[in-house]
Amino acid sequence: MTNETTTSTRLAQPAAATGLRLVGCPECGAPAEVEWADHVPTTGDPVELVKLRCLERHWFLMPAEGLQTL
Ligand SMILES: [Zn+2]
Repeated sequence: MTNETTTSTRLAQPAAATGLRLVGCPECGAPAEVEWADHVPTTGDPVELVKLRCLERHWFLMPAEGLQTL
């Protein structure tokens, strides 16, 4: 007998498996597609690093923190 009712954790879900993600381009504000995302280990909490490309072909490799999610 277990008391484990809700053992699922969102942390176990890879960002790449969530499908298309759109964020605001940091440069022009246009919708930008997240082409790649992964968590990188740091000395502190893991940081999610994303590669994004916007409609104007700007692209960035940067921490997801601070990005505007559309
Ligand atoms: Zn842009």
